[in-house]
Amino acid sequence: MRRKFVAGNWKMNGDLASNAALISAVKAGLAAEGNVDVATCVPAPYLAQVQAAVSGSAIGLGAQDVSAHAAGAYTGEVSAAMLAEFACKYVIVGHSERRAYHGETDAQVAAKTAAALKSGLTPIVCVGETLAQREAAQTNAVVGGQLDVVLAALEAGQVEAIVVAYEPVWAIGTGKTATPEMAQDVHAMLRARLALKSVEAATKVRILYGGSMKPDNAKELLAMADIDGGLIGGAALKAADFLAIVQAAQSN
Ligand code: PEP
Repeated sequence: MRRKFVAGNWKMNGDLASNAALISAVKAGLAAEGNVDVATCVPAPYLAQVQAAVSGSAIGLGAQDVSAHAAGAYTGEVSAAMLAEFACKYVIVGHSERRAYHGETDAQVAAKTAAALKSGLTPIVCVGETLAQREAAQTNAVVGGQLDVVLAALEAGQVEAIVVAYEPVWAIGTGKTATPEMAQDVHAMLRARLALKSVEAATKVRILYGGSMKPDNAKELLAMADIDGGLIGGAALKAADFLAIVQAAQSN
């Protein structure tokens, strides 16, 4: 049985005052002994603030991107070792917004995944198809292909250390959600791809769904056999919504 995992992605939102209020409200609402892993992936400048704010709580700290490089002349980039120094446990890699607005390729996403693992971080590897790709019946080829490139860069023994997030691009921030059945089909396909690399890892790797997950649709999505949690954008900015999703995961 895989432990459910709910991770918030604040994207480029927040400021010192609102971050403090949000974390304090989430902390206050989290059950002391939850059966769900919870994380918050914050903009890099706020890592130290949120590191201190979540210290001693059940909230794991995450970043939203990482450099593929270890150190050097890469202006503006942040290395995995730097994230680890701020007690980051997780880092999102290959979010569709980075793929779309920064031209990140599958190969770069694979290199970032490997860099994160090398520093002991858990990469949350995002994959997802556009609406045009879904309508052209290319979902499995696109999404499976994105995962395959990452898996090819890893040793079989490293696979169980990743988290995968299926995030249909057409569902991110749009209010449109994949139906539980649509998401489950893709998650099952992704688990089968993982099994081709490592049968053992495939049973352990958590595959999150992301794309307009909200309190009113979380329960049905999280009830599906291969949906092991959520990567939450907009709803992670409201403590009550985020907590309601964590609660839906707890009761599944
Ligand atoms: C995301 O940014 O990863 C995401 C899923 O966003 P939203 O929940 O707002 O669709």
